[in-house]
Amino acid sequence: MTSDACTHIQSITTVRHAARHECEECVKIGSRWVHLRTCQTCGVTLCCDSSPNRHTTKHSRSTHHPVVASAEPGERWLYCYPDDAFAEY
Ligand SMILES: [Zn+2]
Ligand SMILES: [Zn+2]
Ligand SMILES: [Zn+2]
Repeated sequence: MTSDACTHIQSITTVRHAARHECEECVKIGSRWVHLRTCQTCGVTLCCDSSPNRHTTKHSRSTHHPVVASAEPGERWLYCYPDDAFAEY
């Protein structure tokens, strides 16, 4: 990890990846998503802020799970909500 990343990102040794390439919450309500993110605390995969429901942000706010990873193919980065920090891996 990059040295200027927050302690949340620095504490991640193994990046969790999406079990399924879909937003669990959007599937339940029959909605659609744009991009997917995987929570590094609990492993849930949810939709990004470009998606109508913004489930990743809602999840992070309600659970205080700080770090998500992009679940998009070819993208290798982490994002921490409380610190607004990005890091590639
Ligand atoms: Zn952080
Ligand atoms: Zn969603
Ligand atoms: Zn989570």
